[in-house]
Order: sequence, then C-alpha cells, then structure tokens
Amino acid sequence: MSGTHPPLGHEPISTCHWSRTAPEAHPCPVLEGTTEADVAIIGAGYSGLVMALELAGAGRSVVLLDAEQPGWAASGRNAGHIAPLFWGAKKTPRQIVSAYGDDMGGRMNRMIAGSGRWLFDLIDRHGIVCEARRGYLFLARTEASLAKHHETFAEWSEFGGVCEAIDRTGLARHVNSTAYAGGIWLPEGGFVNPLALSRGLAATTVRKGVRLFGGSRALSARKDGPAWRIETAQGAVRSGTLLVAAGGYADALFPALRKTAYTVHCGVLATDPLPDKGASILPNAFPVTDLDDKAVFSPTIDAEGCLVVSFLIGPGDLEMRKALKICVPRIAKAFPGFSIPEFKRMWAGKFMITPDGTPRLLHLDDNAFAVTGCNGLGHTIGISAARELAKLALGVDRDALNLPLQQPKSLPASGATNWLLRNIAFPLVNRAG
Ligand SMILES: Cc1cc2nc3c(=O)[nH]c(=O)nc-3n(C[C@H](O)[C@H](O)[C@H](O)COP(=O)(O)OP(=O)(O)OC[C@H]3O[C@@H](n4cnc5c(N)ncnc54)[C@H](O)[C@@H]3O)c2cc1C
Repeated sequence: MSGTHPPLGHEPISTCHWSRTAPEAHPCPVLEGTTEADVAIIGAGYSGLVMALELAGAGRSVVLLDAEQPGWAASGRNAGHIAPLFWGAKKTPRQIVSAYGDDMGGRMNRMIAGSGRWLFDLIDRHGIVCEARRGYLFLARTEASLAKHHETFAEWSEFGGVCEAIDRTGLARHVNSTAYAGGIWLPEGGFVNPLALSRGLAATTVRKGVRLFGGSRALSARKDGPAWRIETAQGAVRSGTLLVAAGGYADALFPALRKTAYTVHCGVLATDPLPDKGASILPNAFPVTDLDDKAVFSPTIDAEGCLVVSFLIGPGDLEMRKALKICVPRIAKAFPGFSIPEFKRMWAGKFMITPDGTPRLLHLDDNAFAVTGCNGLGHTIGISAARELAKLALGVDRDALNLPLQQPKSLPASGATNWLLRNIAFPLVNRAG
C-alpha cells in the first residue's frame, strides 16, 4: 500500500476554540530510524489512542503514528457531545437487531448503550482533565414527537441504556425555551472538551509505554516477511499487526477507506464567554440536540460559558456569513427572545458515515485491520469500534467481537454520493431544519 498525500486543508489546531482551556499538548517526537513493535497504529485520534491504550494495557508494545499531532483532526475539533446511541438517535435498537440478528444486533446495542459510561470511567480512571460533564438532553418540539421518540429511546433500556422522558415542566429547569414540549434525558451522555480529551489520552498512552510519534505520516505499508513495514519520511516501523484509524482523514495510502463510508464535513461556531455564561438559555449547561431538526442542531455551553453550535457544511459554508445563515435561525427558533451573541470562531473537520449508521471493522490484509464509520459520534460509536479492533489485535476470536469483521467493500457510486451529500443533501436539510 502506498500513495501520494494531498494537503488536508484545515487550519492548525492551535487556532481552535478548545485550545483556550485544554491543557498543553504532550510534545510528540518525529519517528526517526527503524523501530519494532507488536502493533503499529496509524492515526492518533480517539480511535488510535484508545486502541493503543487497550493494547498497551494488555502488555503489547505499540507504536502510534500521526501525520500531524494527536487530536489534530476530528478528535480535537469536534463539538464535545457524548451521546450513547446510533447516529443522531435515528437508528433504533430494534432496527439494529433486525438488520444484524438477535445475537450480533444485541451485542452492538449493548456496546453502544454502555459506551458513555465506559468513556466517563476511562476519564476518571486515568485522571484526564477534559471538562467532562455528565448528562445529555434530546429535545422534542411537540407532544407527538416526544411520544414517538420516547418509544424508540425506551428500546435502549432492553440493552442496558438509561433514559428518562421529561415533560415541559421538567425541561424548564434545564432549557429556557417555549419551543420544546419536552425531552429525553440521558444521564450517561454528556460533554467534554475534545482537544483536552485527545491530549489527555495521548499523555496517558505515553505513560503506559506507547511510543507516540507526531509529524510522522505513514507513506507506505508493505509486507516484509511475516511483518508489516510502515515507512514515514524519516523512519520506519516493523510490526506484527497493523491497525489503521485515519477517520475522515484517510489519505491515498488507504484508498479503500475512502470508499467504504461517506465523508461528512461538519463545522462548529463558538462565541466568547457570554456575560451570563449561557444561564439564560441552558441554565445547567447540559448539551442538547433538537430531535426534530432535519440537519444538526446541537448547542452547548462550554466550560468558559461560550455558546458552541455545530452544523453540516455544504460547499462554501465555511464562511462566517454562510455559517450564520445556517445557525442563527435555528438559535432564534430554539430560544425565542434570546439576543443572539456574536460568534467569534469557526472551524471544521471531517468524519465518515455509513448507510446504516453503524461503524465498520475492516480486514485490509493479513494482520492488517482498520476501523471507520464513527457516524458523527466519535466519543461513543467511534471509541467502541476502536475497542473492538484492539480486542481483535489481542487475539480475541472475531466471532466474540461486538461488531462484525468485514472485507472493505466500496459503496456504490461513493464519489458521486459524497458530492450529492455535500452539494445537495446538506444544503437542503440545513434549509429545512
Ligand atoms: C466538526 C465536528 C463535530 C463533531 N462533533 C461530535 C460530537 O459532538 N460528538 C461526537 O461524539 N463526535 C463528534 N464528531 C465526530 C468525532 O469527532 C469523530 O468521530 C472522531 O473524532 C473520529 O476519531 P478518529 O480517531 O477515528 O479520527 P480523527 O480524529 O479524524 O483522527 C484521524 C487521524 O489520522 C491521522 N492520519 C491520517 N492518515 C494518516 C497517515 N497516512 N499517517 C499517519 N497519520 C494519519 C490524521 O492526522 C488524524 O490525526 C464531530 C466531528 C467533527 C468533524
């Protein structure tokens, strides 16, 4: 496997909103010379970092390579929401069971239902300082929508998920708005500063003995006898197993990864700290998502009291004027009477989605595997899938995993669908929201 590497086209992470309060980054050296490991991992976002942590915890020697720095990509620039569900709550546990069967579907549901709890435990266990906050609210605009969504959320309880429907009166304690008839409360969801979590995970992996290299893009990956040899500009790794966790940033080295899922471009807007720290709209600063928005409307108040809102990006929307056109009407509708503050920062990133909203474990080659398709929920779906890939590398039987292991299979017309999503579908749903 080898390829050329187009620029990724994003601003440096130092300009990112989250770096205002995230702890300083652990300095990552560049890989120089040749080194050996049981497992080489490409990509130090949440997926690669969690895999490295699980493998090092089980006594494997691990080299983790990132083209940039840990958390430089989606993991350091996302919106921080932790929602233990399948994509946007739209895929229900029963639909998963009917698609994957009682056994596998049940395991997938249990894995996702427990994923928020698992992440908060991990943060606590390793003392990661990342502004972690428990509690998440999904909002419904009408009684009918609340009843419909409550029914599907209740399915999660069969698989260990925890949720509670709250009516307009209960909601008023958390959301200052007349626009919603009620909500679904997820005590095991929540919020983190994503860059702080990425940096905390990186520092933890290093403490656990992982050799983590930044500025070390994998340029080729070839079999060298029974081992893999991964070359970077200044060094190489020989390893028994190769794991790839390049997310939406998979480059030409792994063309299959860009065709087994669709690429979503997502943007985030943030204000400076609000004078009342957001108390007039979200008094307890729980992150929320509007279940009835056709696109994405998930405002939150961060640790500094800034309002942070994410949105799906169509062509040219990474321009403040266009982003405001998408987000401001949503904020006005959600919080009538709220005087909309000035947004000071905007950034964007990419992640991969699959047609059925579930992640993919892919068998690339002999002892070479990849994970993809976090479906916009990297903290829960993405990290869960990464843990399964780590189990595989530890020798767990593939039939005992909580996700099926699949051969990479190109989605039909993936290039055309990526274009349609970005140029037609997202602008339309953004308008319809
Ligand atoms: C704007 C935005 C908002 C989001 N909001 C949320 C949210 O609120 N909640 C949530 O749960 N999820 C959210 N997500 C999704 C979440 O961020 C991702 O699912 C998750 O971060 C993916 O993690 P990852 O490790 O798979 O990939 P990434 O974090 O994208 O990391 C991939 C890494 O691979 C590296 N890489 C690629 N190719 C190579 C190579 N050849 N050699 C070496 N390194 C390489 C890159 O440099 C990069 O660091 C959001 C995503 C975006 C973009």
